[in-house]
Amino acid sequence: MSKSNIMNTYGRFDVVLEKGKGTKVYDTDGKEYLDFVAGVAVNCLGHNHPAIINALMEQSNKLMHVSNLYWNIPQMELAEKLVSHSNHHQVFFCNSGTEAVETAVKLARKYGKTNGDSEKNQLLYMDNSFHGRTMGALAVTGQGKYQKSFTPLMDGVQAVKFNDMDDLTKKMNKNVCAVIIEPIQGEGGIIPAQKDFLERARTLCDDYDALLIYDEVQCGIGRTGKLFAYENSGIIPDVICMAKGLGGGFPIGAVLAVEKAANAFTPGDHGCTYGGNPLACAVSCAVLEELISGGVIEKVEAKSQYIIDKINELKDKYSNIQGIQGMGLMLGITLSTDTKQFVEKCFHKGLLVVGAGQNVVRLVPPLNVTMEELDAALHIIEEVLEDVDKA
Ligand code: PLP
Repeated sequence: MSKSNIMNTYGRFDVVLEKGKGTKVYDTDGKEYLDFVAGVAVNCLGHNHPAIINALMEQSNKLMHVSNLYWNIPQMELAEKLVSHSNHHQVFFCNSGTEAVETAVKLARKYGKTNGDSEKNQLLYMDNSFHGRTMGALAVTGQGKYQKSFTPLMDGVQAVKFNDMDDLTKKMNKNVCAVIIEPIQGEGGIIPAQKDFLERARTLCDDYDALLIYDEVQCGIGRTGKLFAYENSGIIPDVICMAKGLGGGFPIGAVLAVEKAANAFTPGDHGCTYGGNPLACAVSCAVLEELISGGVIEKVEAKSQYIIDKINELKDKYSNIQGIQGMGLMLGITLSTDTKQFVEKCFHKGLLVVGAGQNVVRLVPPLNVTMEELDAALHIIEEVLEDVDKA
């Protein structure tokens, strides 16, 4: 099998992963790894979870795909679940995070045109944010390195300094149709939005009749210890973008909106061939059931605190650690040395972790990770710190 048939878009480790169980994955030589990347915050129930497998088998025996020209049961069930656990009223389904953001951007533009004049089409986004790779999502991504090769990007967008209330206030005006924020910046380095910043964004959006959009693609679906990340601040957005953990490994994306926002779309405005596909929705229903009724989310906070306490202990011992930030099982260890080397050393010792931002190592394990697995991962992290200290 040749690797050269795959387009060269990722810097990959020289390993082929073949199977997984729970938090563990195995390569083609049988080597075991603790997977604290979890498909970058996707495999919220780990690998090969029986609830996911059962849902896949059951639904694929019934109906795998039908067009959105017709209704299907899993799509309606999933929408009902998302609505009943949120402050929101309607859902649009798609396949990925970037598609969810595209949907939100289009919804915002349509909302602006419906509720204002033709000039109400501006979107404010945050410096250092990440919203995806398609052209609309890329235009509201606040990191030039992802954009520079693909200009010209969509116009009618403006960057705001993240967590800077004055900058946000200065840039808000009647032509703004939406403000898009990650409640915790993921790719940018696990940086939470401050509560007073979110409060200001909410007030300004209300004052100027703009939509407040939260991108919860990475931080949503239980990752922060609440089903939705917005529940932590209590500041409710008009629109939420979701993907990743929503399918637990099966591709699905969604946009959840309050009524006034959702009403902006009418038939023909937006669509998605696979969006709300019965198979994806059946899996997602099973994932939510397990996360909520299976008690997975309620244990996230204790696991988070356990990691934070251990890393803080290590911080007193190893100068390489500057701190740990984030929420729930979306944590970032800030290092004073090279993240790449640290991640590689973890890999060789059987722990998968991924960098974020400049010098942050991200820990986003499955939400059902066991305490023993946390100990094993923290042990490897200490070994690597020891190694780096000596070097
Ligand atoms: N938004 C956020 C916050 C993300 O972290 C990501 C991916 O990392 C995306 C959007 C894009 O999601 P996808 O890769 O599924 O298109």
